Amino acid sequence: MPERDAWLSLGSNLGDRAANLSAALTALRALPGLSVGAVSGLYETPPWGDTDQGPFLNAAAAIRTSLAPHALLDAAKATEKQLGRTETRRWGPRVIDIDIVHMAGVALSDERLTLPHPHWHDRGFVLLPLAEIAPELVIGQRSVAAALAACDVSGIRRPEPP
Ligand code: ADP
Ligand code: MG
Repeated sequence: MPERDAWLSLGSNLGDRAANLSAALTALRALPGLSVGAVSGLYETPPWGDTDQGPFLNAAAAIRTSLAPHALLDAAKATEKQLGRTETRRWGPRVIDIDIVHMAGVALSDERLTLPHPHWHDRGFVLLPLAEIAPELVIGQRSVAAALAACDVSGIRRPEPP
């Protein structure tokens, strides 16, 4: 199976958010057929839509994987479930969300998976961390840096380093 570069967007707004992001990356690193490369810093994003939630911490990670697109989605979902099992509040906000932003050379859309992610270019909480690790990455016709320049990122901040 050929290896491909891919980029993930991760978010958490419940519990120890930084620890959740870190645990997700640790779980991903443990998967056969997947290695984690550059990881961005953490960005704090105010809740939008449902304001009855705490702010998210978001990050982006570059990976290299021999997993096929749907197998990577399954791996992401399994990792979310693995972390979610420690969660007791049933209808609460998310312990972890792992989205596939892009896989090199892949464009597809079905009922389970759309690649590139349809909202990769208009979400500041995806673009700010992604631009830190892959500003020159071109998705479709547009670079990450160009998409970021056209995106409203007000309210998103890089937290102080611990
Ligand atoms: P959100 O859209 O806010 O990330 P979920 O994490 O619950 O919400 O995702 C809903 C569904 O989106 C997933 O179950 C998955 O099948 C589908 N999906 C489609 N494209 C993608 C993608 N590129 N990355 C991750 N999930 C995707
Ligand atoms: Mg998701």
